[in-house]
Amino acid sequence: MYVLVINAGSSSLKYQLLNMKDESVLAKGLCERIGIDGRLVHETDKGKHTADTAMPDHAAAMAIVLDSLLDANHGVIKSKAEITAVGHRVVHGGEAFAASVLITDEVEAAIEAVSDLAPLHNPPNLTGFRACKHHMPGVPQVAVFDTAFHQTMPKKAYLYAIDYDLYEKHKIRRYGFHGTSHKYVAQQAAILLNRPESELKLVTCHLGNGVSLCAVDGGESVDTSMGMTPLEGLAMGTRCGDIDPAVVQFIMEKECISAQQTNDLLNKKSGVLGISGVSSDFRDLSAASQSGNDRACAAMEVFAYRVAGYIGRYAACMNGLDAIIFTAGIGENDCGIREKVCAYLTWFGVELDPAQNAKRGEALDISTPEAKVRVLVIPTNEELMIARDTKTVLNL
Ligand code: AMP
Repeated sequence: MYVLVINAGSSSLKYQLLNMKDESVLAKGLCERIGIDGRLVHETDKGKHTADTAMPDHAAAMAIVLDSLLDANHGVIKSKAEITAVGHRVVHGGEAFAASVLITDEVEAAIEAVSDLAPLHNPPNLTGFRACKHHMPGVPQVAVFDTAFHQTMPKKAYLYAIDYDLYEKHKIRRYGFHGTSHKYVAQQAAILLNRPESELKLVTCHLGNGVSLCAVDGGESVDTSMGMTPLEGLAMGTRCGDIDPAVVQFIMEKECISAQQTNDLLNKKSGVLGISGVSSDFRDLSAASQSGNDRACAAMEVFAYRVAGYIGRYAACMNGLDAIIFTAGIGENDCGIREKVCAYLTWFGVELDPAQNAKRGEALDISTPEAKVRVLVIPTNEELMIARDTKTVLNL
């Protein structure tokens, strides 16, 4: 049984075709510059195929994806009918969705209704769904929400300390994101630790371009660092994370810029890029800090300090901590950042094994045998999680 996983952005469409018999990836790829000109990268075990090809909209991109999957040279299926189901990443499910669902007309309308909360993400996610519906009518499609895993957060964790009417009227509250990733690595951690998820208190650290931490108690999200939008929480590649809300008006007045420009500044020119002035990429920051760039050093220090601070906070929230899990681009690859974060946490019983910490690419325990709190590195796999959820929702 083959499941196609789609992650549609405003001008891009990522896909993976998985064989759910053994969860192997048959093909994966990316359509970029949709609506501009169009570029395809398509990968299978036969190799990589790239093409510059017109993609005026997502439906056109989807046609190219299907053509590539069916192609005589770099294709992996003979007929569209081999695709049993499609799973879509949908960023915001608001309070309406606490789990993945089959997309019906009502679900489509409900996703549209919460688009206010994620105007940059939900509309393209729906465009991806409609493109698939157009090319594969009758094939069941499932929505897997970034926010769903965090719907178990208690009120004390998700309410902002603002007028309650604003929550009731506009649903202004904390939702959290990267839920698919946090859920996946928490499950994998239980397997690696050989303990039931129900008895584990974990802090999962998704450190990529976007950064969020999640307190997972007994397999459920009880708190997470991103809020109503993915701007809250840790310092990220280009996003500021937690900031005094009064700074927003102050910047607008001092810099004579609009609300929209300030929003752009906090989303796209802040974080470690803003502090360092060098890059949002930790490989560039490491290189710059090694050659003595003070601002690059400061950016990395701020980043690690905040991650460690949130881990401490979540240990307090859960009244315990069994393991910390690092995942995503930085979490999986940057042993220096892991070391910096963990250096703050020795009091908790964290102790890294330097040889283990230097390893890369596989799920592993990087703490010493005596350490009270385990530290794990687990590569995330959001596509696999989406495919698994699709299979479960459809009872396949
Ligand atoms: P992601 O959003 O999970 O794809 O993560 C992307 C980020 O991971 C990049 O912007 C880099 O900051 C970071 N990253 C990727 N590879 C490495 C690496 N080898 N060393 C350090 N950071 C890395």
